[in-house]
Amino acid sequence: MVSTPQVTTRRQRVALLGATGSIGASTLKVLRQHPDKFELVAVAAQSNWSEMCAIVKEFAPAVCALAEPSSALELRRALGTQSVPTRIESGCDAVAAAASMTEVDIVVAGISGFAGLASTWAAVAAGKRVLLANKEALVAAGRLLLTEAAKSGAELLPIDSEHNAVYQCAGGIECDPQRIRAITLTASGGPFRTRELSTFDTITPLEACKHPTWSMGRKISVDSATLMNKGLEVIEAALLFGRLGADIGVVIHPTSTVHALVEYVDGSVLAHLGPADMQVPIAHALGLPSRLSLDVSPLSLTKLGRLEFFEVDARRYPALPLAYEALRQGQGACLVLNAANEIAVGAFLSEQIRFTDIVPLVEQTLQTFSIREPQSLDDVFALDIEVRSFANELLVQRAVML
Ligand code: NDP
Ligand code: MG
Repeated sequence: MVSTPQVTTRRQRVALLGATGSIGASTLKVLRQHPDKFELVAVAAQSNWSEMCAIVKEFAPAVCALAEPSSALELRRALGTQSVPTRIESGCDAVAAAASMTEVDIVVAGISGFAGLASTWAAVAAGKRVLLANKEALVAAGRLLLTEAAKSGAELLPIDSEHNAVYQCAGGIECDPQRIRAITLTASGGPFRTRELSTFDTITPLEACKHPTWSMGRKISVDSATLMNKGLEVIEAALLFGRLGADIGVVIHPTSTVHALVEYVDGSVLAHLGPADMQVPIAHALGLPSRLSLDVSPLSLTKLGRLEFFEVDARRYPALPLAYEALRQGQGACLVLNAANEIAVGAFLSEQIRFTDIVPLVEQTLQTFSIREPQSLDDVFALDIEVRSFANELLVQRAVML
């Protein structure tokens, strides 16, 4: 459901899912700057207990959930007899429970990948204000998630920088075609924008994770290098703003200064500019309907000098047309695209396949897997498991062929 956020005076209580990751770190930076406005009451992650230990000591949340039980044990051991009021919970259910606690007002959904769906869903079903970074949840189960939000009264606020930019340029999540003609998302082009195509098969995980403008987790960094990230974002935008793929364009913009543009039916185009720092969209969504001051380096147009935009070269970035095709086919195909991509990126990061094998693996899965439309969350989980095992099978076949 979309509504105008209300002004409140008491501190807003935040649950941070993926607290130990890159979105987690940016959110904590914003929270540190506004202790009078926000209270961190729950944190969750998978296994990084040492990072979590520091977070728990600093913020003393009521609950800390680690999906991996042995890591929760380590965390309890590390905290020892120190007097923190935090209850340490373990397991995937504990992560979802942290997202739906009655004491929580705002949930930052910052877990990476499909692994974030269960907790994002729990937050939505509990009617929270959900700051959505976890785009894979939306790509895999968007229609169901939006229907659930309409039922529960949850507010979905995008903090993916481009979608947050669209939200700001459109004046909300409503992007009615009577008012708005088109949306453009920008893409930096990743680390291989100018690299010789013939050398792509020698790209290493380390090179792929060196993003030129943003500092992010490994999975999204590889997705940014293939431009699958932008493909997932086109699907995310189509779902969030209720538009067709044909209404959503992508341009390469190497400096990531303009994050998105919204073209109105009268020809006016509003663009959102800002530093490439995730604190900015996170602070925007946390602060709604007000603005939070933020200690980030200001954008200097004169230092920047010029803004450059280029068309996307489909030979360099075949993942983007593939994502548009999945969007055209429907929700089931988007789920398949996402699951196959997670398998392929994982295989690349663990050096089982080459960079140039990622997109063909996703494409082959999309073409040969028999896709059906998920009707329920259970369907989504079942389909995701099937696609992963299919894609893993393809990986084995490829390994045999090499
Ligand atoms: P990171 O890899 O940096 O962090 C991932 C976080 O998710 C970690 O806290 C990790 O815990 C946690 N996690 C992973 N699996 C599980 C699980 N099964 N249960 C509980 N927690 C889990 O990723 P990012 O922060 O870069 O990305 C997070 C999401 O935000 C992604 O969906 C990404 O697409 C999106 N996003 C990120 C942006 C960025 O700038 N980083 C920009 C826009 C969107 P642990 O550390 O213990 O493994
Ligand atoms: Mg983005």
